[in-house]
Parts: sequence; C-alpha cells; structure tokens
Amino acid sequence: MENLRPESLAINSGRPERQAGAPLNPDISLNSTFIAGGIGYGRFGNETWSALEDAITALEQGDSTLAFSSGMGAITAVFSLLPHGAPVVASDQGYSGTMSLLKKYHEQGRLEVRFVDISNTADVFEALMGAAFLWIESPTNPGLAVAELPQIIGEAKKRNMGVAVDNTFATALNQQPLSLGADISMNSVTKYLSGHSDVIIGSLSMRDPALHARLLEARTLQGSIPGPFESWLALRGIRTFPLRFRAAEASARELVKRLQTLAQVSNVRYPGFGAIISFEIGAPVAEIEKVLDATSLISNATSLGGVETTWERRRRWPSESASVPENLIRLSVGCEHIEDLWSDLNKSISTLKG
Ligand SMILES: *Cc1c(COP(=O)(O)O)cnc(C)c1O
Repeated sequence: MENLRPESLAINSGRPERQAGAPLNPDISLNSTFIAGGIGYGRFGNETWSALEDAITALEQGDSTLAFSSGMGAITAVFSLLPHGAPVVASDQGYSGTMSLLKKYHEQGRLEVRFVDISNTADVFEALMGAAFLWIESPTNPGLAVAELPQIIGEAKKRNMGVAVDNTFATALNQQPLSLGADISMNSVTKYLSGHSDVIIGSLSMRDPALHARLLEARTLQGSIPGPFESWLALRGIRTFPLRFRAAEASARELVKRLQTLAQVSNVRYPGFGAIISFEIGAPVAEIEKVLDATSLISNATSLGGVETTWERRRRWPSESASVPENLIRLSVGCEHIEDLWSDLNKSISTLKG
C-alpha cells in the first residue's frame, strides 16, 4: 500500500488479511490470557492494537507504531528511555501535560531540560549544543508557534541526538516528522485521529526496530497499554480522519479571516494549516467566560480535534503556562457548517462592546 495517498491509507490499512469469509474490520480482542506460544499475555500485545498501529504507521510513513493508554503515556515512555540527568531541549511553551512533566523531571534532576522558543531557530541551535535529546511540539498548544522542522531536525541529527516530534496539531496530513529525519512521531490519538471526543489513546511511530524494541519494553513494563475497545474506536475514527481534518481545516482558514474583522478580537494566531485557532478577547476574564458560555452550537470545553467545535480560555487551568495570556481562547474547529459556526461565534462575541 506504499504508493497510496493518505485518504486511501486511512481507509484501507489495519484490515484483516483478505481471504474468503474474512471480516473487513478487525475484531475487538477482549483477552488477557492466551494459549502458550503466541502473544503470551494481554499486556504484551493485542490484535486490535496491532490493527490500529498498522494504520497509524501507514499515515506517518513509519515502519512501526506503538499505541499507548494516552498521549501522556506515550510521552512518558519516550522520556523513560533517557539516562538520569540527560540534557533535553524542549519548547518553552507547549501542551500543559508535557510542560508539567518536563518541569517536574527538571526539578527532580531526572532530566536537565533546556526550554527554548521553538520558533527561534538560532536559539534552538544554541540549546542543542551538548544536548542528548530534542522534543519538538510544532505547532505548539495553544500558542501555535511553529518550528523550522527540517533545519532543526537536521542539526540535531548532525549532533547524533534523539529527536521526537509531537505531531498532534499538524497531523500526518501536514507534517511527516519521520521523513524529515526524526526518530519518533508522537500523536495524541485522542484528538484528530480518533476525532469523536470519546477515546483517550496515544501513539509513537518510528522506523528503527531497535528503538521499537526499547519502547515496547517501556510500554510493557510501565503498563501504559490502550484498551482493545478504545483501539477499535480509534481505528474506526481514522477511516474518516482525512475527510474530517480537511473539512475542519478549510473552515478554520475562513474563520481566521472573519475573526480578524471583529473589534473585540486581537492577536489571531493561525499557522496557515490545521484546525486550531488561538486569539485574544479584549475583556475581563469573567466577561470572556460569559461569551464562551453564550454559544448554542460551540461548547466551552477542553480538548480538541473532535467533529464538534469547542473553545475554551486556556488559563482557566492552573497548569497552563504563565506565558499564555489570560484572555487567550483556543478554538478547535470541527465539522459543522461554516456559516452556522460563524453566526454562533459572531453572535456571542458581539455581546461584548467592540
Ligand atoms: C492532548 C495532547 C497531548 C496529550 O494527549 P492525551 O491523549 O490527552 O494524553 C499531547 N500533546 C498535545 C499537543 C495534545 O494536544
């Protein structure tokens, strides 16, 4: 299936072998225990996970993928491979869970984390000196800073460093970290790949079989395994992922233009691709929260990447980085009709004086 385009890969990968009477979809394998000689035990492997992993591998143009209980489970497995005190370069703003984990590891001395502005390539190059590992989230959540991935990955590989990219926001449709030379492409499958706000799953895709073996061991020993039913739901979501994502992305591009015309809205951030828009509303926090609750279609809710459009004020979370403005709204554009979304947004934001 090597030469297929993403739309076809999403639909046709991770299927049972074609033979007379075989089902089109993988079964949900609800088993902890197996007859001796195969998988061994339910924490070591599962046929439904494998089907999901094959589909993500195809999209990410990798050789293998490991599915985890969550995006954070996948991220934790990656950092668990690094030796104590290893110097790590990471963005100074990014997904709050990743940031909290890295800060904790740094305080504990478990890792020596160098936080940099990932969109400043010269600063990143400087931080790479003597570092062992590079973690890039691009675009960042929720600031939407974009890294010059080809240059930065190239420089890190010249220095023989390990490189992992959080590909959740861009997705494999916009960005292929493994093809750019990264060792790992990570996804919060919870978001666009699953796409229906009903599962939590993470994944790591890679090309190196030795790295796969180490990460498989980490997953097995840490026990951060996905559920078979959740894996099946995620794979079902992947079938329509390119269609959903392209539709949401087209609406996001148009909404960016329209949001920029509103007097109450400033600093609209959009990297030119994807379906997340961040912007600021010029009003006190309590007023902003009222605006977020005033929509009828769009939900004031965290998370992103579902067919349902959601928005929230990120700083309502104490764990969100202090560099994120108090009045920053992250809008996750879904698949509703653009005119319905616009009228909902326009109506609620217009309740504030311009
Ligand atoms: C949600 C998210 C994660 C964490 O994934 P979970 O599945 O919630 O554990 C990591 N990175 C980014 C960019 C995310 O948006």
